[in-house]
Amino acid sequence: MSVSEFAFELELCAALEARSDRLYARQLGAGVADPGGRVLDVVGVEPRPAFADRAGITAESIPVAAIDSRVGSGRARYWKDAFDCHPKRARRATDRALEVGFFERERRNGRDYVRQVARYPDWYGRLLGIENKPDLGRPGDLESQLRTDVSLGVVDEVVLATESYVTGAHRNRIPEEVGIWRVHREAGAVREIDVLREPTPLAVADPGVEPLETYPGRTDVAVASPEAKARTRRRMAERAYGKGWRTYGLPGCARCRADDSSGATLPYCEWADRVVDAGSDCGAGCPGYDPAPASDVDLEAERDQRTDWIADPDGKRRAQSGLERFS
Ligand code: SF4
Repeated sequence: MSVSEFAFELELCAALEARSDRLYARQLGAGVADPGGRVLDVVGVEPRPAFADRAGITAESIPVAAIDSRVGSGRARYWKDAFDCHPKRARRATDRALEVGFFERERRNGRDYVRQVARYPDWYGRLLGIENKPDLGRPGDLESQLRTDVSLGVVDEVVLATESYVTGAHRNRIPEEVGIWRVHREAGAVREIDVLREPTPLAVADPGVEPLETYPGRTDVAVASPEAKARTRRRMAERAYGKGWRTYGLPGCARCRADDSSGATLPYCEWADRVVDAGSDCGAGCPGYDPAPASDVDLEAERDQRTDWIADPDGKRRAQSGLERFS
């Protein structure tokens, strides 16, 4: 990702979070047959009324294999009997579900019996995929990426976000189902978003076609069933819930200030005069580098305060309420 795309993406996420109640996350795999084959820049998840129930279970992503298993919220089951996938994957999903607090465990005869701490809620609605291309003069694979999103139809709507002036020629190259936003930025923040074209809803409940490899004269594709698409959507919603978009750090450099003029704290460098990516821009290799302790902004606490995501939910462990009975 180029320097300008990184800053654009963070500023856009900050602006969208401040303007809507969707949950936003960056860089999520959106392929079905090849989950990492298509990575969406930004995903916006529309909350349903049961969002608060989901937020009350755990701050982390819940593994989809655990959600889809036959482990219910009633009687505890021997974990191996509740999964149809490979035992190693089932064990991984069980361990992770226990770790994040979605499953609770009872030991019987040296075996793990598990159940859900709460029934998995129907918490997300439409998924919006956003492809960022601040400069349409350097489109890269933009056209084929957007065609993939439209033919696969795993998200409900796709939007292209750009800073460029959008010409008729650009519009003709962008699939007509894809919405177009023109984003106006100033001094490290998005000032305005012009909706040039609304997105057309995609057929998420129908089979989709996923291009996999392209060779001269042919493209290998996979057909994604509606069930496989639904599983991918669930994985994306869960990844989005656990990950969010504040997946960046603040550099240990005196030239960087924690800037919240965009509505969220971003690493703004006075020397470079832009939002920077501490992981790739900063350090001894930068001519402006001036070592100093990194700002101790707590981005998780900020996410907790500014969104409906809960950093430290009480959870719903029966084991705890069980203990209370004896206290
Ligand atoms: S290391 Fe360079 S880019 Fe990073 S904050 Fe310091 S001056 Fe800016």
